[in-house]
Amino acid sequence: MQNSIRRVNPRRPFTLNADGLKRIVLGQTGGDAEGSMAAAVHTQVHQLSKPLRLAADTVTTRCLLAVAHSDRGALDEHARQAVAAAALLADGATEVVLLVFGELHDDAATLGADRCIVLPQYGGHLFAPEAELAALRALIEELQPAHVFIPDNGVAASDLGRRLGAAEADSGIATHVVEISGTGLAAYRQQGSLLARRSLARIVLLEVDTVDARLPFLGRGQTAESLAAALAAAAGKAASSSAFLDLGSKTMAASQMELDEADFIVSAGNGVDDVVLFNSLANALDAAVGASRVAVDDGKFKRDKQIGATGKTVSASAYLAFGISGAVQHLQGIKDCRHVIAVNLDASAPMIKRADLSIIGDAQELMTALLDQVRQARSVEVGL
Ligand SMILES: Cc1cc2nc3c(=O)[nH]c(=O)nc-3n(C[C@H](O)[C@H](O)[C@H](O)COP(=O)(O)OP(=O)(O)OC[C@H]3O[C@@H](n4cnc5c(N)ncnc54)[C@H](O)[C@@H]3O)c2cc1C
Repeated sequence: MQNSIRRVNPRRPFTLNADGLKRIVLGQTGGDAEGSMAAAVHTQVHQLSKPLRLAADTVTTRCLLAVAHSDRGALDEHARQAVAAAALLADGATEVVLLVFGELHDDAATLGADRCIVLPQYGGHLFAPEAELAALRALIEELQPAHVFIPDNGVAASDLGRRLGAAEADSGIATHVVEISGTGLAAYRQQGSLLARRSLARIVLLEVDTVDARLPFLGRGQTAESLAAALAAAAGKAASSSAFLDLGSKTMAASQMELDEADFIVSAGNGVDDVVLFNSLANALDAAVGASRVAVDDGKFKRDKQIGATGKTVSASAYLAFGISGAVQHLQGIKDCRHVIAVNLDASAPMIKRADLSIIGDAQELMTALLDQVRQARSVEVGL
């Protein structure tokens, strides 16, 4: 029986309005099969919004490579900066190639990539260092990039970059890079106390915020599927003889998770009176619990739940803040959070300015309504 649910392709062609809002172009579907028409719309849209870095007929003779891991189809800010570094250093004869481990739903052209190779079977929580290294080395062998840019993010990308440096010892690697130019770089040494300058290494591991990811131009944003297939084959071969066996991930209750490891945090401030309701909501959403210092000082939460300058620094994908004003000390602790949602009575609160989505209203009312919705959606009785 045919499925009657109509799916909307999230990659349909779009236009950007003056406020930067995306408007999907109706009637176009933008998939590979639709080909030229959708591509024409896409290119036209890009041309309207920002210029292409390389003219369509430019023949490139050099390549810069950026490598990133995606998280649920998106590159985080740090990974975007690594791609931007390559794009900003590329001259008019240089192609910027992006290799992504994991799915990618972001627009490669906006990221600054001229060609994009996506290996959706890797990335995420899969531990496959040898397979990823084999794919990366196969790409380097194929393209001979002048430089490789990788975010030094302390997790998968940092590990891959260092493995690459060890495997290609002749290439030269620079880690903890905090300044970069076409010819040189600066990197921190001795736990950030010594700044060392040197020529631009072939493998560059960039610290966060070294480069502004907001580019004034677009890359070509082409995909390279045959290259992706070749890299997948190289990775698969390495995986089959790997000494590692990934046993998969283990699910644990969010409440047991360390706050600095949590991906979804619901956080309470002085505006939360009903702590029982708040905890029920956190349970129903399967989110970790955080709190402002005032809420902790009031005895509503234990000290290890405090987020901020004198508490934990968190990097959740989603941070839902109820009744938190957003004092600078608190904002310091959530600077690495990807999506911040704030509920506050005061539309001028700093937390509202920091948030990607704000709800001006009473925390207790919002929590009650949200809990009802979650229960209905899950059809599970959580129990207050
Ligand atoms: C040295 C130092 C270190 C600090 N370290 C930290 C730290 O690590 N972490 C930290 O959080 N703070 C820290 N602070 C304290 C910080 O300055 C703020 O005082 C604190 O973050 C404020 O907490 P709050 O936003 O919960 O409370 P408040 O400032 O009282 O704000 C409450 C907010 O809730 C809103 N509100 C009230 N009622 C409702 C309602 N019914 N519904 C919705 N919204 C409502 C209000 O509009 C307001 O915006 C530190 C301060 C100092 C001096």
